[in-house]
Parts: sequence; structure tokens; C-alpha cells
Amino acid sequence: MKATINIIGSGFSSLAASCYLAKAGYEVTVFEKNKTIGGRARQLIKDGFTFDIGPTWYWMPDVFERFFADFNKKSSDYYTLQKLNPAYSVYFGKDDYITIEDTLEKITIAFEKEESGSSKKLNKFIEDAKSNYDIAIKDLVYNPGVSPLELITPATIKKINQFFSTIKKDVRKEFKNERLIKILEFPVLFLGAKPSDTPSFYSFMNYADFGLGTFHPKKGMYQVILAMEHLAKDLGVTIKTEANIDKIIVEDGVAKGLVSNGESIYSDIVLSGADYHHTETLLDKPFRQYSENYWKKKTFAPSSLLFYIGFDKKLKNVNHHTLFFDVDFEAHAEAIYDTCKWPENPLFYASFPSKTDSSCAPQDKEAGIFLIPLAPGLEDTPELRATYFEKIITRFENMTSQSVKNNILFKESFCLNDFIKDYNSYKGNAYGMANTLLQTAFLRPKLKSKTVRNLFFTGQLTVPGPGVPPSLISGKLAANLITKHHSILV
Ligand SMILES: Cc1cc2nc3c(=O)[nH]c(=O)nc-3n(C[C@H](O)[C@H](O)[C@H](O)COP(=O)(O)OP(=O)(O)OC[C@H]3O[C@@H](n4cnc5c(N)ncnc54)[C@H](O)[C@@H]3O)c2cc1C
Repeated sequence: MKATINIIGSGFSSLAASCYLAKAGYEVTVFEKNKTIGGRARQLIKDGFTFDIGPTWYWMPDVFERFFADFNKKSSDYYTLQKLNPAYSVYFGKDDYITIEDTLEKITIAFEKEESGSSKKLNKFIEDAKSNYDIAIKDLVYNPGVSPLELITPATIKKINQFFSTIKKDVRKEFKNERLIKILEFPVLFLGAKPSDTPSFYSFMNYADFGLGTFHPKKGMYQVILAMEHLAKDLGVTIKTEANIDKIIVEDGVAKGLVSNGESIYSDIVLSGADYHHTETLLDKPFRQYSENYWKKKTFAPSSLLFYIGFDKKLKNVNHHTLFFDVDFEAHAEAIYDTCKWPENPLFYASFPSKTDSSCAPQDKEAGIFLIPLAPGLEDTPELRATYFEKIITRFENMTSQSVKNNILFKESFCLNDFIKDYNSYKGNAYGMANTLLQTAFLRPKLKSKTVRNLFFTGQLTVPGPGVPPSLISGKLAANLITKHHSILV
């Protein structure tokens, strides 16, 4: 008889794991609490507008291709990818922005205009970032985070200094122009920590940005979730929605299944892609590996306040991805990581997918997503959401020289309370646990439980970390560990 595996959650990591495990020969069932699959990457469809609720930046296309290639597929078997040009633009003040185009050559020209001599330095910086990418993303991140030895290779030994310097120091050593510094420090924000807490080695994110570019799947990121659902079902995975998990059944120290909506569903192995902290609360206390104090001490990636807006006209002076870095970056970062309060003057990000993809909004209308990064654990009230919307939309109007407040057909918001309610997210975090030096690889919560046999974890709180590409890899790593420890037959 085939061994059975119950998987909690249907985010990128769970879906990836389900595909690998079904391909290996297990009988796999996915249990998702929400009505639709996809977790943080779900989709909002309203009045002819389509919004990705979570991820909007498709970076590291090679990681997606590597995932599909493991099943003899390509992304193009499921969705159409477009390389965005421009990739994005960054506002620094009224009508004052830098546009990042789709090749390094064009980007170096933009840099040179800002700071004489910077193009040569940029080429060198990206060359080094590429070599880090080749070491990290093509190799290191595919390790299961079991031993420190995974990080010690001839290639990393040569780069040892880069683990003890930071992105902030390295960028400032080479570049003097504050605007270029902000652009070069932006990609590591995806890893969830401040550039001053992120090792230089993580400059591989700058290669992902300038070297590989920014892509958009036609009809949005949710197409990737649909592709994975398609693949998983073809491989024989069963997916159940509105199937909340209340408890992990443990007998004699061995995981035996799940309680879903009050019903016990037995399996040989349990894998959870729900947030790690929440998964442990589904176990009786003696079986939890990490104390509340452990989680409290960790650096969590930010939460976010998001708005999804249908505009009744096309907007001008914005691109598909537009960043608003017109206020003090340090003050906002301090509010997220140090003082943990709502920022006085927030930086924000806006995405207008209908700028490049007509399927995202009705004709002559615009779909807009606005995101303010926030500290996890903050108070979240309708009044605070309204205050912050007013702050950013007023700045948006001023910087892009247009009025939009009277062109809003509808506005939905999503913030800390929703992250907790919808995903059981620890303190309402959006992007999981940050990738700092002390929260990297074997120093992250483990894929395999130390206290319960046959229980495994995957997702952005374990290895390799936050983001869609790492979540895909996390699913593969968890599946590999399971296949290593358990025969496919019982
Ligand atoms: C606003 C936002 C913007 C982002 N932008 C980007 C981006 O542009 N690019 C990028 O690469 N990454 C981005 N990310 C990060 C990326 O979306 C995540 O890293 C990734 O989606 C996490 O996948 P996961 O499988 O680890 O977790 P999740 O997607 O959270 O999946 C966990 C699943 O478990 C389910 N679950 C929880 N508890 C239970 C329970 N008790 N019973 C049953 N099911 C349960 C949840 O409902 C959820 O479906 C963004 C994230 C957010 C929130």
C-alpha cells in the first residue's frame, strides 16, 4: 500500500512539496483552511479588476523553470511570461524619479547620469553579485539546513568576508549618490531585514534585480499557483479547501494524522506549510520544539498594510512597479525593526498591473495595489488604515502630478489582523522570518521535527527563507527529506 501524506496549507511551499511527493509515489492530500488555494499569493477579483493579494514581483525565473523542469515541464506549458520594461521606477520627490530598465547596459547608463564613474562600479558590483547568485541560488539554497557544513564550500570560503560585512557598508563604500544607494539597497528588503543587518553575500538579490530582471506572468502571479495546482492534480494530489486543521494527531511520539473541522484523518506522514509557529500550536505542548520566547527573539520580516483599488481612469506617470522612496528610509526602517510603531512618513510601493496587462482591469481603467511595510505585532484598526491611506494617496497625487482620490471605484484593504485571521500568521507577519546572518540555513527552524517522528515543516519560516522562489525550494527540500526517511510503501 502507498504511504499517505497529509499536508497543511496550499501556499507555494505546500504545493511544491505535494508535487514532488506525489511524483515520488506517495498518496498526498492537501488541506487548506481558506476557500481558495495559494495562501499569501491568493487573488482578488472584483468588478472586472484582478489583483494579486500578495506577491507581485516575479524574480529569479530560473528557480521557477528548475521547479517545472523537475516534472519535465516548462512555465510556458502553463502561463505566459513577459519581461517588464521598465522593470520599475523609483520616486524621490515631485516629478522626480529614476527608471530601471530591462538590461544592465541600460541601467548603467541611468546610473552614470546620476553619479559620474558609477557605471563601472555597478558592472563590477553586479559581476560579484552574479557569482554570489551562482553559489547561493544555484547550489547552497538547495541544502536542507541540517548542518553548518552545508555553508562551507571552496566557493564560500573565498567569500568569507562577505558574511561579516553588510550590504549597507558595501554599497556605501562604492556609491555616494543617495538615490543610487537606495536603489541598490532595495532588493535585499525582500529578505525581510534592514540592509545594515543583511550580509554582503546576499547581493545575489541585486543580480536577480539588475542581471535577470523583473517578469510578469500574464493575468498575474496567481497563474503560477494555478499552474502548480494543475500539475499537482495531474500527479494525483487531492486538494481540499475550507479544511481547517485544528490539531496534529500524535501517538507515542509519532505523527499519525490531522483533525480537520473536527474529523480525524490519519496518514503515515504529516507535512505543514502553514506558518511554523502556528503549526507548533497544533501540537500538545511537550511536542513543541521552540518556546514562545524563541519566537519573540527572532527578527521577523515586516507585515504590510495593503490597498487594492479600482480606478475609473488610466493613471499617468507610473509604471507597472513604482516605488516611493521620497521620505527618510532610515526612519521607516527604525519604526519596523527597532521601535515597532507605525511610521510617521512611510515609504510605499505601488503596482499597476493593468499598465502592462489589459486582463487586470476593464478598458480605460486601472488596477492599483499599494503596500506600506509595517512592524509585525502592531495594532490594526480601521481608523489607522484610513489615516495611512490618506497619507500615501495625498503624496501619490502630489508626486505623480495628478488627482486620483475622486476616481476610486472601490478600495479593499488588508493588514495585520487579516494576516492573522486568514493565514494564522505569527504577529501578522507578511513575509515570514527574516534572513539575517543568525537566521540563515541551519540556524532557521528545522524542516524535520526533533520531537515528533514523521512530522515535517516547509515554508517561508524555515529554509531557505521568505519569497516565492525560496518557498518553491523549501517544498522540494521538505519532500527530499521525507523521501530520504520514509519508504513510499507501508
Ligand atoms: C503582501 C505580500 C507581498 C509579497 N511580495 C512578494 C513578491 O513580490 N515576490 C516574492 O517572491 N515574494 C513575495 N512575498 C512573499 C511570498 O508571497 C511568500 O514568501 C510565499 O507566498 C509564502 O508561501 P508559503 O507556502 O511559505 O506560505 P503561505 O502562502 O502563507 O501558505 C500557508 C498556507 O497555510 C494555510 N493554513 C494556515 N493555517 C492553517 C490551518 N490551521 N489549517 C489549514 N490551512 C492552514 C494558510 O491559509 C495558507 O494557505 C509577498 C508576501 C506578501 C504577504
